[in-house]
Amino acid sequence: MSNTPADFVICARWVVPVVPSGRVLPNHSIVVRQGRIEAILPTDALSESQLSLPRTDLPRHLVTAGFVNTHGHAAMTLLRGYADDLELMDWLTNHIWPVEGQWVDDSYVYDGTSLAIAEMLSGGTTCAADSYFFPNAVARAMCDQSFRGQICMPVIQFPNRWAESEHQHVEKALQFHDSVRDEPGITTAFAPHAPYTVSDEGFEAVVSHANEFGIPVHLHLNETASEVATALKDTGQSPLARIQALGLLTTHLQAVHMTALSEAELQLIAAHNVHIAHCPESNMKLASGICPVQALLDHGVNVALGTDGAASNNDLDMLGEARSAALLSKVSTLDATSISAADALSMATINGARLLGLEDNIGSLEPGKSADITAVDFGDINFAPLYNPLSQLIYVASGQNISHTWIAGECLYQDGDYTRLDIDDLSRRVSGWQEKIQGDV
Ligand SMILES: [Zn+2]
Repeated sequence: MSNTPADFVICARWVVPVVPSGRVLPNHSIVVRQGRIEAILPTDALSESQLSLPRTDLPRHLVTAGFVNTHGHAAMTLLRGYADDLELMDWLTNHIWPVEGQWVDDSYVYDGTSLAIAEMLSGGTTCAADSYFFPNAVARAMCDQSFRGQICMPVIQFPNRWAESEHQHVEKALQFHDSVRDEPGITTAFAPHAPYTVSDEGFEAVVSHANEFGIPVHLHLNETASEVATALKDTGQSPLARIQALGLLTTHLQAVHMTALSEAELQLIAAHNVHIAHCPESNMKLASGICPVQALLDHGVNVALGTDGAASNNDLDMLGEARSAALLSKVSTLDATSISAADALSMATINGARLLGLEDNIGSLEPGKSADITAVDFGDINFAPLYNPLSQLIYVASGQNISHTWIAGECLYQDGDYTRLDIDDLSRRVSGWQEKIQGDV
């Protein structure tokens, strides 16, 4: 986001602004000046001066806000398919954590994050919350690609190659926060890993520094029913009760997963305006459980979407995630009206912006907001016939159909090509990691 991109106009078959929900604007144009949306208007109403701007004609395309991926571990894209079809704790403790202990360093995280950004840009995602070790490498990868992100600073009791103790995680997080303070497009959050991997002292330090900096806390919480049952058995206290006692249950909490929730806990979440990052595909793949999205929405809770890491998904496709969220909610409530296509799109965009505290800048196409935009090509035969563009977007399209992705008015991806990223060089580096990791199996 260093260069001010040129002014231009996108002329699209359909513009879906996300706000108001469900609106589809046929044959509309988006005027972009200095990286921001200046106007959205019928193409035949463009003024002389607007018509003189460079234009991108998208006659078969639906154009909407860039997707906001509210939970992921980008560097884990290097472990896509490394250990599948396993139960969560077996997957983590016997497969993922050992291989991470062996290989994760600054260059691993830079390459893995770059790979994730390549996939996200080609799938229409323009902003992501990321939690991983070596956050400086995550920041470098995001800045190099002009990608927008909330970089979550990890805090965990286990020693790893980034920090040896819980205390050192906090110390390094403070240094990192300071180093990216002036970076446009980057925000930070504390990411204590989960209630079962962070001590009370660790949480207290997180709350104190998060309050001091005015930044959110991003936390895996109630990921499975057994996590809750184990905490109750071992300590007599539920994870949520413990979190509340430690002062974390506020509107600055971004709670990830939340598959195991009692009615009383649902009301508690709603009363404190906690934001939820729902990761349906990771929850399904790891058989973690089902987040009660419809009940949360009925209680007025903001629910956004995340892919989680590619090692438990196994892709970073937000359109796929939106479809999964809609289908999972329908089947789990036995109510086909639960989570409409428009609801699913809101969860993938504006709800994510709200969770990140960025709703004034991104998450919808509105004059004054950043031009974070994606275009979906509806030209393939599987989009025909086309009665309802929004239905087609959520129930037919996937990341493979994305033709363009802009962030702050800069086109970063167009028809298979990246404007900043050297994809051949990245592919070579990824192959190198695969050989190293495979040689180790
Ligand atoms: Zn996660």
